[in-house]
Amino acid sequence: MRTLLCFSIFCSFAAAKLSYNGFKVFRIENKGSAEELEQSLSSINSILLSKDPNSEAFDIAVPPDQLQAAHQLGFELNTVIDDLGTVLENEGPFLTYIATEKTQGVAADLPPLSYFDSYHPYDEHIQFLTDLQAAFPNNSDTFSLGPSVEGRELPGIHLWGGTGKGVKPAIVWHGTAHAREWISAPTVEYITYKVIEEYQGEDSEIVSILDNYDFYILPIVNPDGFVYTHESERLWRKNRQTRDSQTCIGTDVNRNWPSHWNVSGGSSPDPCSNTYRGEAPGDTPEIQALVAHMLDLANGPGIKAYIDWHSYGKLILLPYGYNCTALPDNYERQMSVGTGVASAIASVNGLEFRVGPTCTNLYQTAGSSTDWAFDVAGAEFSWLIELRPTAAEGGFVIPPENILPSGAEHWAGVKYMFSQL
Ligand SMILES: [Zn+2]
Repeated sequence: MRTLLCFSIFCSFAAAKLSYNGFKVFRIENKGSAEELEQSLSSINSILLSKDPNSEAFDIAVPPDQLQAAHQLGFELNTVIDDLGTVLENEGPFLTYIATEKTQGVAADLPPLSYFDSYHPYDEHIQFLTDLQAAFPNNSDTFSLGPSVEGRELPGIHLWGGTGKGVKPAIVWHGTAHAREWISAPTVEYITYKVIEEYQGEDSEIVSILDNYDFYILPIVNPDGFVYTHESERLWRKNRQTRDSQTCIGTDVNRNWPSHWNVSGGSSPDPCSNTYRGEAPGDTPEIQALVAHMLDLANGPGIKAYIDWHSYGKLILLPYGYNCTALPDNYERQMSVGTGVASAIASVNGLEFRVGPTCTNLYQTAGSSTDWAFDVAGAEFSWLIELRPTAAEGGFVIPPENILPSGAEHWAGVKYMFSQL
């Protein structure tokens, strides 16, 4: 849709970093159909951020020169962020991560927890995974999938317990499918750190879980988009795929999984939309790599649980996204465990995460990771977790002081899940 086209303002900044000074974030309550609202919004130059799960409201970021036009659309615009540029300043500056010292043949110390005091560029995430592996040399490997459109790896770490590598059913975690959801990677990395730390500390529950399941963890599955959010447009969502005869760049990788791929209403056929699904199911290199990896696991030891970590909205989303009446055949069990996970999360900082099927609790999504992982890869649990916060609390853009609390919340959440597997 036109809202998301590479318009002059965004195109002109393609080579430089886009400033969001003076951008306002508005929430628009949707009184009619979502399609009509999106159509109206397409007449102005704005960025669609998210649809609110409760009210079908839309959050949009509007640049200063479009404010008047936005007000003339006739919607009630509720300001949730007065100046996005100011909020962005609170994200940084990045603190440089110093790699852990290593001695040949000796397990290194775990990386310092100060890593989680800041957001980090792509390369430092790879270094962090390398350092986690060095601290857990007999029970982990780093690996990479890909390459991405621009030739980057999708970095991962594989953890296993006392029974050896690759024989137990898999727990798979993905982060940063959507490039701008920065809280996702460090949250996944924190809970990975905790699995290793508590296994080494001989915590009986964690020893048991790692002895019974192998973990395959990829904190950044959309590396090109992620790098682009650092270098050019902080609020970029899609990958960076170009296609012949298309001017707009990027496919929404979480609408490109080869499952219920083009169900009407769950994604966009418009290359300029933020939810553009691609031209064919699984036609992004990132999803092809993830599909191949997960099918290997599904056809080998099997996949017990899959979690795709996103932000924002404080939600635990189950299948299905493509259809609001279809339910997974183990719906009761997934809901029961999900409700327990939400309680465990709430016990840490009091944040309430809502649990339910994606379509009825967020919005309709076609070609999504969780529908695919449940239907095709056979994951018994297949969830998308929308991390903190809400739009009014910053949306995608929240200070790094949120990283450790987010990590602690979801460490409590996954520990509850482990207890139920
Ligand atoms: Zn997302």
